[in-house]
Amino acid sequence: MGQTVPSTCDTLIIGAGMSGLAAGIRLAQYDQNVVVLDRHALWGGLNSFYKKAGRPFDVGLHALTNYVDKGVRGKPLTRILRQLRIPYDALKLGQQWVSESAFPGVKLRFSNDFQLMRSEVAEKFPSQIDGFDRLSALLADYPSLPTAGMPVFARTRLAEFLTDEKLVDLLLLPILYYGSPTPHDIEWGSFVVLWKSLYEEGFARPQGGVRTILTLLRDRYKELGGQLHMRQGVAKLLHENGKAIGVVLDSGHEIRASRILSSAGLVETMALCGEALQEKFSEEKCAGEMTFVECISLLDTPLVDLGHDKTITFFNTTERLIYEAPEAAFDSRSGVICCPDHYDNQIPQHEPALRLTLRAHPQKWFDFTDEEYAATKESAWQAGHKAILPFAPDIRDHTVFVDTFTPRTVRQFTGHTRGVVYGSPIKSPDGTTELENLFLMGTDQGFLGIVGAMLSGIAMANVHALQASPS
Ligand SMILES: Cc1cc2nc3c(=O)[nH]c(=O)nc-3n(C[C@H](O)[C@H](O)[C@H](O)COP(=O)(O)OP(=O)(O)OC[C@H]3O[C@@H](n4cnc5c(N)ncnc54)[C@H](O)[C@@H]3O)c2cc1C
Repeated sequence: MGQTVPSTCDTLIIGAGMSGLAAGIRLAQYDQNVVVLDRHALWGGLNSFYKKAGRPFDVGLHALTNYVDKGVRGKPLTRILRQLRIPYDALKLGQQWVSESAFPGVKLRFSNDFQLMRSEVAEKFPSQIDGFDRLSALLADYPSLPTAGMPVFARTRLAEFLTDEKLVDLLLLPILYYGSPTPHDIEWGSFVVLWKSLYEEGFARPQGGVRTILTLLRDRYKELGGQLHMRQGVAKLLHENGKAIGVVLDSGHEIRASRILSSAGLVETMALCGEALQEKFSEEKCAGEMTFVECISLLDTPLVDLGHDKTITFFNTTERLIYEAPEAAFDSRSGVICCPDHYDNQIPQHEPALRLTLRAHPQKWFDFTDEEYAATKESAWQAGHKAILPFAPDIRDHTVFVDTFTPRTVRQFTGHTRGVVYGSPIKSPDGTTELENLFLMGTDQGFLGIVGAMLSGIAMANVHALQASPS
């Protein structure tokens, strides 16, 4: 029998995704009475898992970014493991083989050894290598965490180092796809974080996929006595005199809390706070628009046997980089091809897989009838797999099973407005909101991806729930 949902707690956490679970562990370690709630039946949020036709799938996982070797200190991943007291070996990480950013006629390969990317730039853009070296030296000195007060965009800063726009596009393509809430460009602070996590540190995958991380987080939280209540949505946030004091659940049950940490997103959290805040942070004014459709194809043949050995290929079929919300339901002119089997140390979970991510319209998928929805998913698969032919093998005759998720799937399972993945372009680097005792964590605090979400949960718990005196 499940635990009874309590009526009071020290810290209430909205969302059992990566940030919520990491924050929960941190607080439970200090004996706080902490409650994590999620509306969905499965934990993991944007990076959860499910079964279809008896086959296990990861929702989101392409790569765990920020790879470091065992024993390396002071890096984001080792900091997380130390703070959560999880041993490095428990993640069972396998490193990527090699990835690439690819435009027609030119590719930049990169791996977990930064020198590969440097040698590719030296060979293909010899006139740019001095600027590239100055840029990478500058970035190596930046902290790995988001820095507030850098309201400048990456293209502007990059122009100080690189004069070849094709090289700028090649470097930006993976970074925009793995974390930009803004079309065509990305705010400089986020660029720095992603540069470090994608290029300086690199990609890995836990053996067993995202379940391995999520099981570790959930088990650690529960063994510390933390309360996890699934299928418990927060319908309303209660506040008095500018202070958050508790929540009302979908069931009508009320929980009072000394503070609330929310991973639901800026627009979504403010919508729980009543008309005035909902209006001030409305979807029209504050929601992002970058969302994606992803087709996961299971194959009868390993991709290496079809001549493809890349782990992740970020592709762009036109001369200049395209990264914007499309006018149609999807746009196959650029995207991401991920081969989850192309990591060391993997035990296949099912047939060989290829994941194809394309940009999606933030509204159209919600307006489709069921027939239109199914037909548009099929068109995305057909058009996408045709578009990637210059960059990957033709898998269309090798596909035995396809599952496709869309912005509608993301909204249904995580509640994110428009099904957006990188949240609102408005971030709160210190997590504070208009209400005292209510803090944002995760994507809308400005930390990106799985590692970023966990770091965010830990940082917000440390700053707002452990160092703060109870109020
Ligand atoms: C397709 C896809 C691929 C991705 N691939 C990668 C990748 O390869 N590598 C990587 O690092 N990152 C990847 N990401 C991004 C990564 O998944 C997210 O950055 C990270 O999981 C965000 O975690 P979070 O805890 O901040 O938020 P979320 O995962 O969004 O968690 C928020 C939780 O809050 C719950 N919630 C919301 N509202 C309420 C409410 N009112 N009441 C109760 N519960 C509520 C939701 O159900 C959800 O579980 C991917 C994301 C997607 C969608």
